[in-house]
Amino acid sequence: MMTPASPFNFSGKVALVTGGTRGIGKELTTSLAQHGARVYFCGTNQELGETVAREINQNLAPESAGTSFIKVDVSNFTACSDMVAEITAETKQIDFLINNAGITRDNLLLRLKESDWDEVMDVNLKGGFNCSKAVVCSMIKKRFGRIIFLSSVIGLMGNSGQANYAAAKAGVIGFGRSLARELASRNITSNIIAPGYIQTEMTEAMDPKAQEKIKEMIPAGRLGTVSDISNATLFLLSPLADYITGQVIQVDGGMLMA
Ligand code: NAP
Repeated sequence: MMTPASPFNFSGKVALVTGGTRGIGKELTTSLAQHGARVYFCGTNQELGETVAREINQNLAPESAGTSFIKVDVSNFTACSDMVAEITAETKQIDFLINNAGITRDNLLLRLKESDWDEVMDVNLKGGFNCSKAVVCSMIKKRFGRIIFLSSVIGLMGNSGQANYAAAKAGVIGFGRSLARELASRNITSNIIAPGYIQTEMTEAMDPKAQEKIKEMIPAGRLGTVSDISNATLFLLSPLADYITGQVIQVDGGMLMA
């Protein structure tokens, strides 16, 4: 009996992961590279980015296509289009875009500064616009593309002290779903992953009491791992998910059953 080809073999595919230097994005970059894709990832910390790229490449099989870091701030429209132009000059294509870069600037509305609002919007929401706008033309020409947005359950339920983040992450859902409608006929899907609480530097910054309280709200009884998110992403990028678009996939241990 012939063994069927793995739907998770991404050899020949080119991926761009934004915010790939840490946390979820680093795991996404690593797992996509391990599954054969040529992966470009960006971030704002040059030294960290280069270290991460070296670390990932050293541990890949020799036949792998490898990964490269590009220093880009996703809130900068021109920098995003330059990054995409640089990648497509090398590869002629970008098959997968994962809009992952994100930041928090938490505070209650009374203390929330205008800059806290603007920075969170610029990275979490406008960053997704900047990168999607830059890749979409070549995806349309190729009649293939898979776009993923990292939103958050906070974008669905709101959270005290995170009005800016919740608004940006809700915006990501509306934006991602609109792209799904615009692009489905060109064989481009656009889906949204809404993680619950995942163990990364972002959640480690929370005080331990708040972390314990959160665990009590999660039916699975634990915070998520970065692999929980990369597994869902690999599925959405694979041919198994060709007919799935415009969906919000919650990866949250059952925390929010919306
Ligand atoms: P993280 O550990 O703080 O990492 C954030 C990544 O984004 C870093 O690689 C950072 O790189 C990059 N980044 C930040 N600002 C950037 C900018 N202006 N331009 C380019 N890259 C930038 O965060 P995470 O926990 O992995 O979260 C990843 C995504 O999942 C975010 O969108 C987050 O909102 C979402 N999410 C996370 C959780 C969670 O529990 N962790 C839950 C729900 C949703 P540099 O520092 O080099 O810029």
